[in-house]
Amino acid sequence: MFDKILIANRGEIALRVIRACREMGITSVAVHSTADADAMHVRMADESICIGPAPSVDSYLSFPALISACEVTGAQAIHPGYGFLSENARFVQVVEDHGLTFIGPSAEHIRTMGDKITAKETAKALGIPVVPGSAGGVATLDEAKQIGRDFGYPVIIKATAGGGGRGMQVAKDEAGMERAFQTARSEAKAAFGNDEVYIEKYLQKPRHIEIQVFGDGQGGGVHLGERDCSLQRRHQKVFEEAPGPSISPEERKRIGDICANAIAKMGYSGAGTIEFLYEDGEFYFIEMNTRLQVEHPVTEAIFGQDLVREQIRVASGQKLSFTQDDLQINGHAIEVRINAEKLPKFSPCPGRITAFHAPGGLGVRMDSALYDGYSIPPYYDSLIAKLIVHGRDRPEALARLNRALGELIVDGIDTTVPLFHALLREKDIHTGEYNIHWLEKWLEAGG
Ligand code: ADP
Repeated sequence: MFDKILIANRGEIALRVIRACREMGITSVAVHSTADADAMHVRMADESICIGPAPSVDSYLSFPALISACEVTGAQAIHPGYGFLSENARFVQVVEDHGLTFIGPSAEHIRTMGDKITAKETAKALGIPVVPGSAGGVATLDEAKQIGRDFGYPVIIKATAGGGGRGMQVAKDEAGMERAFQTARSEAKAAFGNDEVYIEKYLQKPRHIEIQVFGDGQGGGVHLGERDCSLQRRHQKVFEEAPGPSISPEERKRIGDICANAIAKMGYSGAGTIEFLYEDGEFYFIEMNTRLQVEHPVTEAIFGQDLVREQIRVASGQKLSFTQDDLQINGHAIEVRINAEKLPKFSPCPGRITAFHAPGGLGVRMDSALYDGYSIPPYYDSLIAKLIVHGRDRPEALARLNRALGELIVDGIDTTVPLFHALLREKDIHTGEYNIHWLEKWLEAGG
C-alpha cells in the first residue's frame, strides 16, 4: 500500500480523497493554486504545496507542476478526483513514465472511452446495447442528412471529443439539420479543439440511468447497481438518486451483469460508470466515464462501501474488498448538487460566505469544502457542496432531504438551494415520474 498520495484536485472532492487516505493511514498531499491558499483541502491535508497561479491551465492542469510536487513531497501515487486531469490519457502516461501510480484505469482505457465513437464501438463489441446512429464520424452535411433520413428525425449531433454536455445539437427535421450540424461542429472545435461529430437517434423521453462498475485490473469486475440522474439542466445533472425509481431488480441484474462482464473482459481497473439512456424498458449506451463521478456518494450510501478506498486498493495492486454477492442494496439515497449560482438564470455567484452551517443527523452526509468566512474564488467550478441523504425507502429519503435542506445555512452568496425546496413541492418528484427533459420544461414554465 502507498505511504503518501497526492490529490490533483480541489474543493469537496479533494476532501473526499483526503478522508479516505486518513482512514487508511496514508499521508495526503494537497496541491493548490495561489487563489486556493486558504481552501479547506489545503487545511485538511497532511501536507500541501502550491503548484501555480489561479488559472487551472497553470496549476491544476499543469503536468510539470504536479509531477514536481510528487517529487518534492515524495508522494507515490496521484488521485485525480473528477474533472481536471481525471480522464487525460496523456497525463496518465506521464505519471507512469515518472515511476508514479495513477489511481484510475490505464491510459489505454481512458483513451478508448474518451473518444465517444471508439467508446461506442467498443461497448457494442462487448455486448452493451447502444443508441442507434451513424457508424463513426459524420464529415459532410449531405451525409448528416442521409443519416437523418435513415434513422428518422429528430436526431442529435454530438462531439466525438465531447464532455460536460457541450457540442450537442438536436435537429428536429431536415430543414434544421444544416444549422444544428454546423453549430455542433463549431462548438466542438471551440471546446475540444476537434470538430469531429457523430449522429444518434434523439430519444424523446428517456431517463438517464448509469451503472457503477469496478474492475480489479486482473480480469474481475462487479457492478454496484444504477443511479438515476435524469434531472438535468443543459445536460448537467443536478439531482441524483440510487436505486433508480423505475428500475426493477431483474432489469438491474440484466444490465448490471452485462456491464460487469464487459469491464472484466476489458481488464478494466478501478471505478467507472457506464451511462445509458433508458426508454420503454430498453437501455442505450451513451458513454463511459473512466473516473469517480460527482454522484458516487449515493451508491456508497446504499451499498455501504467506500469507493475511493477501493480505487486506492485496486491501484496499489490489492484485490477488491467485495464480491458481487456481497453487494446488497440497503434503502434509498439522494444527492443534490449545491452550486454557487443565482436563480433563475443560474449565473455564477462566487463571493464570501458570511455564515455556514451544515445539516446533520441520521442519514445525512454533506460533502463540501465550505467554511465560515471562506471566499469562493471565481476561477473554478460552481459546485460548492453535495448534500446526500439516505433513508430506508424513497419517501423517507425525500423527507430527510427536505429536513436537511431546512437546516443548511449558506449566507453571503446565492446558491441553488431554493431550486431543491421548489422541486420537493412537485408531485412528479415524489412519484419519481420524470425524464431527462422534465427539469428544463419545468424551469421554462417558471419553476
Ligand atoms: P457529455 O459527455 O457531454 O455529458 P453525454 O453523451 O453523456 O454527453 O450526454 C449527456 C446528456 O445529453 C444525456 O444525459 C442526455 O440528457 C442527453 N443526450 C445524449 N444523447 C442523447 C440522445 N441520443 N437522445 C436524447 N438525449 C441525449
